[in-house]
Amino acid sequence: MESSANAMESTSNIAKIYLLQEDREKSFKQWPFSTDKQCSIQKMAEAGFYWHGTDNEIDIAACFVCGKELDGWEESDDPWSEHRKHAPQCPFVKYGRAEANLTCEEFVNLMMATLKMRFQNNYTTLKTNGKMLIEKKRKEMEKLLRTN
Ligand SMILES: [Zn+2]
Repeated sequence: MESSANAMESTSNIAKIYLLQEDREKSFKQWPFSTDKQCSIQKMAEAGFYWHGTDNEIDIAACFVCGKELDGWEESDDPWSEHRKHAPQCPFVKYGRAEANLTCEEFVNLMMATLKMRFQNNYTTLKTNGKMLIEKKRKEMEKLLRTN
């Protein structure tokens, strides 16, 4: 029983990085455009986007590799073109092909790029939070020195 729970856990962690087109498709809880439109959920997911919206702003999507977030989509927008236009440096854009048309090696490369991007984002957040904490402590100490 326990090992199956662990297996479930690790599968859900993989789903969270939206490496698979299927997981990206499932991430769209709401989306303004239907399946017959140029920027349908399926085409968004194919071009690397997962849903990053909220209840108030439903049309926000982000790339699972480069993290580029785009909003204000229109039904005639082509997800691949928009991705290329706003994030030409993205490794997924450079391949420019749907998951089904990638080689195993390309897929592994994308996975590495995705993990690296996530790691760097976490690192930047940690660094920013760390600086803020140090600054707060410095001010507290200054106050203490002044009052004594
Ligand atoms: Zn991207």
